[in-house]
Amino acid sequence: MRIPRNYRNAALNASKAKARELREAIRTARTGPCLIPLNEEDGPCSPELNNCHLIGINHLKPIAKNGHVYEWDMIQIPSVTNNWIFHGTLSEDLTQNSFGEIHPADINIQKCTRRAVCKTHDGPVFRVADRLDLDTEAPEHQFKMGFRAIAGSLALLESLIDFTKGISGEAWLNEFWVSKGLAGDVERHLDNGRHILERRARGIQKELARWQELYLAKDQRESRIISSVGTMTPMIRVACSSIYYPRPGKGVALNIIPAQTGRKATIVVTTRKSKSIVEHFRGHGGQKSALSGIRDQIKLLFEEDPETAIVQLAQNTLHFLVSKEDFDNPNILTETQRHTIAVSMANTLHVEN
Ligand SMILES: [Zn+2]
Repeated sequence: MRIPRNYRNAALNASKAKARELREAIRTARTGPCLIPLNEEDGPCSPELNNCHLIGINHLKPIAKNGHVYEWDMIQIPSVTNNWIFHGTLSEDLTQNSFGEIHPADINIQKCTRRAVCKTHDGPVFRVADRLDLDTEAPEHQFKMGFRAIAGSLALLESLIDFTKGISGEAWLNEFWVSKGLAGDVERHLDNGRHILERRARGIQKELARWQELYLAKDQRESRIISSVGTMTPMIRVACSSIYYPRPGKGVALNIIPAQTGRKATIVVTTRKSKSIVEHFRGHGGQKSALSGIRDQIKLLFEEDPETAIVQLAQNTLHFLVSKEDFDNPNILTETQRHTIAVSMANTLHVEN
């Protein structure tokens, strides 16, 4: 039977409203501790966590259209068994069975935040990394960008973990599960999804702990960081602040900061110095360091092959935003390319199970 258009629209609008409500719930779900360690200079934590921009709003404005950008929330979808519960609830097409494709979500740049640190500590690291006069070549700024990328990545994951705890047992969840014609125990799937997220979070927690140590040992802040900085003119304007895994278990902090004017962007890849990481990322003799290799690869992809670049970055980072204007521009991406991207995103999830 054909469903009358006005009913369909009503259902679609209801699902969009639900998706927005859930996004907001995830954004503010994190209750965990402030991710900046206590030091005497900064003072004690304030009781409340702040909604922190993981990429400074001043750096997002150049890629936004009417204050909005596109975002992929790949992380909210840990495996095919569990993924759709997150993707399905968050995508704006709840009424359709469209798990074969994952499209980016439209998001207000004011809401590209997570509760990562308390009000007192938002300034010392997060607000400095937001500044317009951020000097991407300065070691202290590189440290703060890297620290925020890793703390922000953990906050994103923990927001989702806390969210899944909060929705457990809610009636709409069961209804949604049944409406999709899927069998099985929804709570069990939710638990499985959460365990996968928790495992990922533990890996980032370990890395963050090392950055927290460096933050406290101020005199080593500069000398213990290795960065590679480059500039690109991407076909599609993007922004990123995330932990990034170029190889299994080898995470680095990746930041892509759009320039205030024009199409240029700065790529900063940062890691902390430690014996094993230096060996791994520095290369030998005349060999290029792995950090500058990552930077050059990202630059090349975004300048020449935006379709592959988007898929790669969305799959490998936790916080990755794209200009709507560029993404929807048929002179930059064809309809077929956009479709390919959406299918690639969905396929990743299927093999990951
Ligand atoms: Zn604090």
